[in-house]
Amino acid sequence: MAKHIVVVGAGPGGLGAAMLLAKAGCTVDVFEQQPYVGGRTSGFEQDGYRFDLGPTFLMMTYILHELFQLTGRRVEDYLTLQNIDPLYRLVFHDGRAFLPTRDQGQMEAEMERLFPGSYQGYQRFLDVESRKFTRLISRLRVPYSSWKPFFNWRFLTSLPTLDAHQSLHTKLGRYFSDEDLRMAFTFQAKYLGMSPWECPGTFSMISYMEHARGIYHVMGGLHRISEAMAKVFEEDGGRLHLSTAVADILVEDGRAVGVRLTDGQVVKADDVIINADFAHAMTHLVKPEHRRKYTDQRLRRKKYSCSTFMLYLGLDRLYDVPHHNVVFAENYRRNVEEVARGHALSQDLSVYFQNASITDPSLAPAGHSALYILAPVPNNNSGISWEQEAAGYRDLVLTTLEQKAGLENLRQHIVTERMVTPKQWEQDHAVFLGATFSLAHNMGQMLVLRPHNQFEEWDHCYLVGGGTHPGSGLPTILESARISAQLILERYGQSLEPVAKASH
Ligand SMILES: Cc1cc2nc3c(=O)[nH]c(=O)nc-3n(C[C@H](O)[C@H](O)[C@H](O)COP(=O)(O)OP(=O)(O)OC[C@H]3O[C@@H](n4cnc5c(N)ncnc54)[C@H](O)[C@@H]3O)c2cc1C
Repeated sequence: MAKHIVVVGAGPGGLGAAMLLAKAGCTVDVFEQQPYVGGRTSGFEQDGYRFDLGPTFLMMTYILHELFQLTGRRVEDYLTLQNIDPLYRLVFHDGRAFLPTRDQGQMEAEMERLFPGSYQGYQRFLDVESRKFTRLISRLRVPYSSWKPFFNWRFLTSLPTLDAHQSLHTKLGRYFSDEDLRMAFTFQAKYLGMSPWECPGTFSMISYMEHARGIYHVMGGLHRISEAMAKVFEEDGGRLHLSTAVADILVEDGRAVGVRLTDGQVVKADDVIINADFAHAMTHLVKPEHRRKYTDQRLRRKKYSCSTFMLYLGLDRLYDVPHHNVVFAENYRRNVEEVARGHALSQDLSVYFQNASITDPSLAPAGHSALYILAPVPNNNSGISWEQEAAGYRDLVLTTLEQKAGLENLRQHIVTERMVTPKQWEQDHAVFLGATFSLAHNMGQMLVLRPHNQFEEWDHCYLVGGGTHPGSGLPTILESARISAQLILERYGQSLEPVAKASH
């Protein structure tokens, strides 16, 4: 198909759509403002240590496998995926550590050790959620460009199973009465930058997916996924332009016609795909006269996810702790509410850290390790001055890990370090308000109420990435790429080749 497609941004969303369209014979130009691919799913090397900037959990790997199959490739030829089990270590306020695992015998023993009598609830959780997952997952592949798909019998009958009317925390109370145990199955709301007390019960699917299908690491780091996608794209003739920022999306008579680069060059296209963070793209790359629905004012009124305070540490030792770790605040609910309300920084904080070197020695010199630390914090609506707060917050995070996570004398082992605050997410990584997980995933901003894959403001424009349907997170972002690529191909009478459902 001799159509010319321009993609703004080489994040996983942009790369996913680009590789599918290049395979289908389109001429595809991807413009990426950074000198590297991957956006928030990029990596960096510092003093011999290698870090992922953002994602560290890969789930629902079958979606990645299917994406590669659609281009006639096998993931195995590009990436080595490593299953992580136990899934993670969860450290509660009183110091007890819980290591959920997919080994049912060990899981029963672990649950009975910490939460006597709870294993039956877990079995019910797996059973009920499995049925919900099967019913709902295919629905996420539908582009919700209008209300029409809702008036479909299959969708209507699946509505009660959505559990959208109750919070994730309430929903999980059906299976788990112990508050700490409930936390172990609801903290995943943070993957969407939300609070379990606000996040719709629909997202119990996330903890179900972890337990039923596992969590994976990519050897070398998850940013290898972006690099592999870029490789496939270029192998199929795609043109990747790094360090090339788009200044403007060109709109004429209600249709996107191309882009203007920051050097003034105009690149015309049959269709434009926007992968840059949605609200950032609207407010920075589109003139106000072309926006009726997504005006600056309306975008400001939308709800956004929280942000994250990041530390990437190169250490001269390897701690003997698991790959993924979460240390909960003394009062977890207060902590998540403080993050969600966004007025000030929690002094009693929850921290996630990844000790990937325990699984993957390639990330650091022998005997050393690369430590990734993430603390959820308010997005930049908070007005917090990160110039003033960053050093103190770094100290608080390190003290929390030294005292509660078994990383004794952590400070003494730091060889190299990088920090990313919400301010940097916004300024350096083009993320609106530094809201790292894009628009919030409340029911008012989901499905047809989220910016559509076929953009509703102009014709010949498509969205991919965390700010469109189905939402933030690598698997859903890859699905957005598949949906938008399919919509473009359909417009020209083509379709993605069907592939066998991957079983991974
Ligand atoms: C700290 C953190 C942890 C996360 N952890 C996980 C996880 O464990 N698992 C998971 O599944 N997901 C996770 N996510 C969420 C999500 O998977 C990633 O954020 C993902 O990279 C988002 O992909 P995207 O394609 O929407 O956008 P991005 O990755 O942000 O890509 C957008 C691209 O557009 C480019 N761009 C912007 N403006 C322009 C312009 N004017 N011209 C040219 N290019 C431009 C940007 O430079 C960027 O490369 C995490 C996110 C963060 C931030």
